[in-house]
Amino acid sequence: MIDIHCHLSDFDQIPDPTIKLITCATNTDNYEKNLNFSLQNQNIKCAIGTHPWFTEKYDEVLLKNLLLNNPLIGVGEIGLDGCKKTPNQFEIFKSQFMLATNLNRTVIIHCVKKFNELCPFFKSLKQRPKQILLHSFSGTKNDVLFFNQFDCFYSFTDKNFKAELLSYIPSNKILIETDSPSKSYLSPQNLPLILDKITSISKIEKNVLIHNSQVFYDNF
Ligand SMILES: [Zn+2]
Repeated sequence: MIDIHCHLSDFDQIPDPTIKLITCATNTDNYEKNLNFSLQNQNIKCAIGTHPWFTEKYDEVLLKNLLLNNPLIGVGEIGLDGCKKTPNQFEIFKSQFMLATNLNRTVIIHCVKKFNELCPFFKSLKQRPKQILLHSFSGTKNDVLFFNQFDCFYSFTDKNFKAELLSYIPSNKILIETDSPSKSYLSPQNLPLILDKITSISKIEKNVLIHNSQVFYDNF
């Protein structure tokens, strides 16, 4: 089982080095810590990028150089957040998304109350990044139908999982995550709990979710 989204840089040390996971940076201050965790442990993959809450720290040259020097890392957590007013959110999101596209990397997107900006942006794309994950997905049925055209993956914890969306999301595109150390899940070690809860409230099978994570992780 693989934790598809967490923030290891918020831990002093790796909580359990045997757990496979993908750790995401949120701003330039934690790029290096996340990168080092992934360089030191073969179970850990990493994405670096600037989260929409921290746009004032964005440095395009630094991000591009780190991506060029580390061909196996992705771009994230990047995105748009309608609940936080931060400078140049859209431009900074676009700059990072285009880097991911041009360098053929996986991109991890946070979108809160900004699907009205994200959808037109996707419509304008001529090319796509390697894989696209809409993490902690909070969109509607219509958003799912739109993003399915772009082969997006959707990740959830049991707290934000909406069973009513399941019939619209292709079963091979659903992933689970802890987003640890978030308030709900303090560690990637809690992933089995999320797996149990999601499979008990929906018809999806455990082995499908486990397989999906492996595919996404292997193609990262
Ligand atoms: Zn996150």
